[in-house]
Amino acid sequence: MSERDSDRKRISTALDRMAEHTPTSWRGDYACCQTCLHYELSEEGVSRYVAWHRQSDEGAFGIERELDVADDDFESLAEFDVEKTDTLHDWLFLYFDVLVAAEDAALFLREAGFVVEWDGTASSAVAVRTR
Ligand SMILES: [Zn+2]
Repeated sequence: MSERDSDRKRISTALDRMAEHTPTSWRGDYACCQTCLHYELSEEGVSRYVAWHRQSDEGAFGIERELDVADDDFESLAEFDVEKTDTLHDWLFLYFDVLVAAEDAALFLREAGFVVEWDGTASSAVAVRTR
């Protein structure tokens, strides 16, 4: 693995390794929210997975930029635009259907050098950072 690989690439590589060595599969930047993510994966017939949705992707890899937008009265309105990057700026939250999938992901991501925080329960997402 090259020193210059992006965080996004390093996460995919770690999760690809997990998928090779365990029955757990993964999806990144998949569906719009947690509800749709679980719904769409079950519709696809996927089980034992970890995945993160678009909101989590934007929160972790995105840089929020404030846009100055003037309305009809020329009042300045603060609007935000998220620019997606391949660098992890904040926690990436992974969701899962069964505990063993979360355990697999935590193991392979830690092995790849990521900081992983998870309390081991089904009600918490697996949180991943670079440090
Ligand atoms: Zn949704």
